[in-house]
Amino acid sequence: MKAIILDRDGVINKCMPPHEYITKLIEVDYLEENIEIFSKLKKNIPIFIITNQQGVGKGLMLKKELNTINQKILNHLESRNIYIKKIYSCTHLASDNCSCRKPKPEMILKIARDYLIDLKESIFIGDSETDIQCARNAKCKSIYIGKSKINILPTYHAKNPMQLLRVLKIEKFIETSHQNT
Ligand SMILES: [Zn+2]
Repeated sequence: MKAIILDRDGVINKCMPPHEYITKLIEVDYLEENIEIFSKLKKNIPIFIITNQQGVGKGLMLKKELNTINQKILNHLESRNIYIKKIYSCTHLASDNCSCRKPKPEMILKIARDYLIDLKESIFIGDSETDIQCARNAKCKSIYIGKSKINILPTYHAKNPMQLLRVLKIEKFIETSHQNT
């Protein structure tokens, strides 16, 4: 079975400025244009979120607070008819050198083990070079939706929501219709 894997910050909601972390619900600012596209994903394809949340390791928020924020995000997505199977967070510090922090592939590999996902057929959507490297390390396809120039080649580069929609149709994650979108 193939899956779609989403990064959280920069894909579902806006990123905080560099070196800042979302630690409160009020800081969650949804990227509704992307969410609109994810609501069109075929319902039989499982969706996962993987996210680096070093703010926990830095002591800027508790794991419990992160879980609360994640749950609220899942609730919001459900209200848009998007059902996330599971969200995986790495809460370690970069300096911990854990096995799960992106660009290491462990969170994606765990999804594959836990849900018997065929990664070669799956796509990871991310907005950073770290995400694209992570997809490559896990040997799954990638869609880069970030704005800055990156040094690794994603499978696809979607420069705007329209292109993202097109790629997801090409890859058959979204039903092609005769409607203009
Ligand atoms: Zn980790």
